[in-house]
Amino acid sequence: MSDLRLIRSEKLSRYSSVRFAMSTRVGGVSPEPLGMNLSYRVGDDPANVAENRKRFFEALGFMESGSAIPHQCHSSNIQIVSQPGEYDACDGLVTQTNDLPLIVSIADCLPVTIYDVAKAVLGLVHAGWRGTAQGIVAETVDLMVKQCGSSAGEMITYLGPSAGVCCYEVGREVAELFSLDQVEQRDDRLYLNLKKANCDQLLGAGVREENIEISPFCTICTPQLFHSHRRDRNKSGRMMATVSLVDHAGS
Ligand SMILES: [Zn+2]
Repeated sequence: MSDLRLIRSEKLSRYSSVRFAMSTRVGGVSPEPLGMNLSYRVGDDPANVAENRKRFFEALGFMESGSAIPHQCHSSNIQIVSQPGEYDACDGLVTQTNDLPLIVSIADCLPVTIYDVAKAVLGLVHAGWRGTAQGIVAETVDLMVKQCGSSAGEMITYLGPSAGVCCYEVGREVAELFSLDQVEQRDDRLYLNLKKANCDQLLGAGVREENIEISPFCTICTPQLFHSHRRDRNKSGRMMATVSLVDHAGS
């Protein structure tokens, strides 16, 4: 049997109307360090990736073919979706459709889930430093408010495992895109606090502090659990974060 290990959100788990999980490195069949790799684009054997994906989706009760997947490009582009499929050149998806899992692929970048409980609107964002600098999380909240009738005050949000400020060294040209309190200087090096930068965007957009949950995990310095592109370079696998609105009407 598979020893699959998944990351859940404490806040999102309180709602039976939404289901979130993120995969880890644990529980797959690919040779190390790929382990539970879910990407076909990192040189892994496609048969292994297919088996890993099967385990992941079965554990969640989702259909891979029923999911919405963006072709991520480190942008601030967001799409509202109501059908399964692949979506070109975007890093955020928003839906009001039940049983349509949204998926992002992750290895150090931050997965951000935004759930409006009252209006049943769901967003999932892939936020690396580029997307964060372009304000993708604030723009997703804004889109949910303007296009879907959401209220930021009703949103429950989860910032998942990502590169942490403990490890995420950046150059001066990247650091300068962020405010001073989103970057730490240690010795002569600069470290980006990606989670704080995105948390600040949520707060600025009107999300309440008590409705923001932030994972303590850093993908770079937790090799037993997470893939990390920064750590493993071109040997790194990819994880998936996925979230879906759950339809209880028939159950
Ligand atoms: Zn770290």
